[in-house]
Amino acid sequence: MKIAVIGAGAMGSLFGAYLAGGGHQVALVDVWREHVEMINKQGLRIEEKSGEKIVSLTAEKDTRNLGAQDLVIIFVKSYNTADAVNTARNLFTESTVILTLQNGLGNAEIIADTVRNATVLAGTTAHGATVLGPGYIRHAGVGETIIGIYKGAGDRRVHDIADTFTNCGIKTRVVDDIASQLWGKLLINIGINPLTALLNVTNGRLVEYDATCALMQMLVSEGEAVARAGGINIPYADVLEKVKQVAVATGTNRSSMLQDLDKGGRTEIDFINGAVVREGAKLGISTPYNEMVTQLIKAVEAIREFN
Ligand code: NAD
Repeated sequence: MKIAVIGAGAMGSLFGAYLAGGGHQVALVDVWREHVEMINKQGLRIEEKSGEKIVSLTAEKDTRNLGAQDLVIIFVKSYNTADAVNTARNLFTESTVILTLQNGLGNAEIIADTVRNATVLAGTTAHGATVLGPGYIRHAGVGETIIGIYKGAGDRRVHDIADTFTNCGIKTRVVDDIASQLWGKLLINIGINPLTALLNVTNGRLVEYDATCALMQMLVSEGEAVARAGGINIPYADVLEKVKQVAVATGTNRSSMLQDLDKGGRTEIDFINGAVVREGAKLGISTPYNEMVTQLIKAVEAIREFN
């Protein structure tokens, strides 16, 4: 299969490496020049739990040298999705499948709006990765990847892609109701990410205090109300309990939002708590707590940028 990965940071280069290892023709595309040059020069260096390995891969700074692809995987941060997909238009034909495994809500919509005739798949992955330097990543966590059709007639192809991923070492399952899956992950992220980022604590600390539990409950119950009003089939019987379980299970992790603020970078807040606010507004559900944390995170981003 001819596969391009747009946004070859931690997750994009990880998935690209596994797919290339399975014999597919993979091109990584990333605007980070040093990273691209290092990958082309020495391969991608991956720190796995079992030790280090180097995977030989092709990387490009843009899509100019690439032709039509069978599969394009979008792995930029959500706030770059529109730009990245727009500038990669030469990769898409009517038979190209586009897959997003990004966090948050709204990426599949942006892709489907930008590439009108495309088959768009969306999903979640429990793999985790971090960039350690140009051409160098850590494979921090292993878990299941779940995909489903967001738009288009991709019934056979979604299964082909899941089989391809699984054969390459990325265990993948297809679900019919991908919205349920995306909202399930979103409800966890809205309860954990902004609070860990604002309070500068690891995930597990959130369940240790009454005040942090109360804050989680405020954010999550608004998200749950919006999901229910939108007819989403929430995959947990007790959403707050599930969020707390995940916080405990990932107790020592620093959430991606906390890591983004640590680096002085931008967060995906608009696609996480901000998405709950947007969806709530469409459905006439008020979401003041999610609005508040969205603005607090944006305030931290703005203050850091101008300091
Ligand atoms: P990352 O910052 O490591 O990688 C994103 C890459 O996109 C960067 O290398 C950046 O240079 C590149 N980029 C930016 N604009 C671009 C453009 N226009 N064209 C091409 N490349 C561009 O981010 P990440 O941690 O790999 O996360 C990617 C997505 O996956 C996010 O939505 C994140 O929430 C999600 N996710 C991450 C993890 C994880 O463990 N890191 C796990 C699950 C999901």
